Amino acid sequence: MLGINIGIDLGTTSIVVYIEGKGIVMSEPCVAAYDNQTGKLVAVGKHAYDMIGKTPDSLRVVKPMKHGVVSDFTATRHILGYFLQKLCKNMVFKPNVVVCIPSAVTSLEKRTILDLITAAGAAKACLIEEPLAAALGAGIKDDRPKGTMVVDIGGGTTDIAVITMGCISVSKSIKTAGNAFDESIMRQIRRERDVIIGEKTAEQIKRQIGCARLRNVELGMNVKGKHFITNMPVSIEVTSTEVYLAIRQNLEAICEGVRSVLELTPPELSADISDSGIYITGGGALLQDIDVMIREKTGVKTFIAEDPLNCVALGTGEALSHMDILSQNGYVFKARNEIGGLDVNSEQN
Ligand code: ADP
Ligand code: MG
Repeated sequence: MLGINIGIDLGTTSIVVYIEGKGIVMSEPCVAAYDNQTGKLVAVGKHAYDMIGKTPDSLRVVKPMKHGVVSDFTATRHILGYFLQKLCKNMVFKPNVVVCIPSAVTSLEKRTILDLITAAGAAKACLIEEPLAAALGAGIKDDRPKGTMVVDIGGGTTDIAVITMGCISVSKSIKTAGNAFDESIMRQIRRERDVIIGEKTAEQIKRQIGCARLRNVELGMNVKGKHFITNMPVSIEVTSTEVYLAIRQNLEAICEGVRSVLELTPPELSADISDSGIYITGGGALLQDIDVMIREKTGVKTFIAEDPLNCVALGTGEALSHMDILSQNGYVFKARNEIGGLDVNSEQN
C-alpha cells in the first residue's frame, strides 16, 4: 500500500482506527498488561482487557488514558506502537495520522501525544479535538457560520462543544462520563446491599438496565459479587431504579455542563442551536433515554448520532479528506522535528 492516511480515536476506553479508503478497521480496548518483575509488555487491547480483575500478582493491567489525559506515557506508546506497526507493516510509506484528543488537553499534553504518535510510526501527525471529530462523524460538515452543539459522552470525559464554521467556538470537558457511572453503581451496591462487584460487572449492569430517567417498567438483573462483611460469593438482583438512583448525580453533572456551555454561547449561535439541536455521541449516548433527559433539562431538541461508539473515528476519517478546509483553522500535519514549539495546532489552551 502507498501513502495511506490513518485516523485514530485515542479514547479512555477504546482505541478506534480508521484507514482512508477502508473505513474503520479496528476497535480495541485501550489497555496494556505488563509482567511486574521484568516490566515486559505481555498483552495489548482485548487480550489485556480480558485480564482486568483476574490477574495474578505477577501481572499488572494498565489503562493509560485517565479522564481523557495520558496518565501513563509508556503504556500509551506501547499501545499506539503495537497497533500502528500491525497496520502499517505492508505500507511502503509511513502514514500521516489524524488523532483526536479531548478538547481540554493542555499544550504540553498535545505536544507529548504528537511525539508519541510520530515515535510510534507515523510520518506526520495532526491533532483535532474530540467534539470536532464527533461533529464531523455525526455528519455535521457545515463550514458555514451556523452553530451546532455536540455532547460526546465517553468513558473518562464528557466533551461539550459548540461548533461553527468547522471549528470550536465554546467548549468544556468534564470528568463525569461512563466510568463515573460504573463507579457510582459499584458504590451504591456496596452501600445499600453490602455487596462488592467488579468494574466489568458494573459496566454490564449499566448497559443492560441503566437509564437516564426512571423506567416505566422496572427491570431486574442478577449479578454476582462478594459480600462486604462475610467475604463470601453472593448473587443478588439489581433493579433499574437502583441503577438510576446511583447515577442520577452524574447525569445532573453532565446536564449542568451542557447548560453552562449554552450560557457561554454567543446569542446568534445560541439561536442556531435551538434550531439545529444537540448531537449526542460517544458510548454514553447508548444509555437509555439520555437524549430525552438532556432535552428535558435544557429545552433544546436532541439527536443520538447514528453510530455513537465509532462516531469520533469516522470523524477523523472525514477530517483526513477535508484537510484543506481544516488547515485554514490551523489543523496541520506535523513531523517529529516540527513538534518543538508550544504552538501545537493553533494554540487554544
Ligand atoms: P472513549 O472515547 O472514552 O474511549 P467511548 O465513546 O468508546 O469512550 O464510550 C465508552 C463508554 O461508553 C464506556 O464507559 C462504556 O461503558 C459506555 N457504553 C458503551 N455501551 C453502552 C451502553 N449500551 N449503554 C451505556 N453505556 C455504554
Ligand atoms: Mg471518545
